[in-house]
Amino acid sequence: MDCPICGSDDIEILNSKQKTTKKKYTEEYLLKCGECGHVYKNVISLKKPRPYRLIISEQDKSHKTTIDLSPSDELQTGDTLLTELGQVEVTSIEVGDKRVEKSKLEDVDTIWASSVEIPARIGFSVDLHGDVDSYKLDLERDFEIAPGDVVKIENHIVKVFAKAGVIKRVYSKPVRFNSYDYDLTKYIFKKTKKSD
Ligand SMILES: [Zn+2]
Repeated sequence: MDCPICGSDDIEILNSKQKTTKKKYTEEYLLKCGECGHVYKNVISLKKPRPYRLIISEQDKSHKTTIDLSPSDELQTGDTLLTELGQVEVTSIEVGDKRVEKSKLEDVDTIWASSVEIPARIGFSVDLHGDVDSYKLDLERDFEIAPGDVVKIENHIVKVFAKAGVIKRVYSKPVRFNSYDYDLTKYIFKKTKKSD
């Protein structure tokens, strides 16, 4: 948007107008050059966002979803996108039957990305009258474990009785319940057994 007369990039926006039609989103600017004083118009026109196929890999799973992006935009590997499944980083772009590193979205068929939402790793101790089963869990960041929760973890059904620090380790004891609030087994990353 450099001044067309003197080429300066010292530009002041005097006025801007947005217009949306069925297919396009248009921004019209009235600009003034700070160097030579030339006043001119600049119109930026973007195609309206449409859904793109997005495949997000996260640890050993992958999720198929869509993301709305403007076909006028450009996409590049390494770009970060905000999706309904959190932030992802573009790892590959599929155009026709080719994988490319950079493309105008207009030509893109599928976007491949990996999740950059890093799970929270916490400790989970089950007190077995002297013996302790100690787990490391990878939880989603917004996963909350509260004191009083009855939880299944492997073959234990336990009640959470204390939480250390800002959720670094959760302490629990087995209870004689058949039902539980949620199952943490699938989040186990590592297990150790300790005995006194
Ligand atoms: Zn100028």
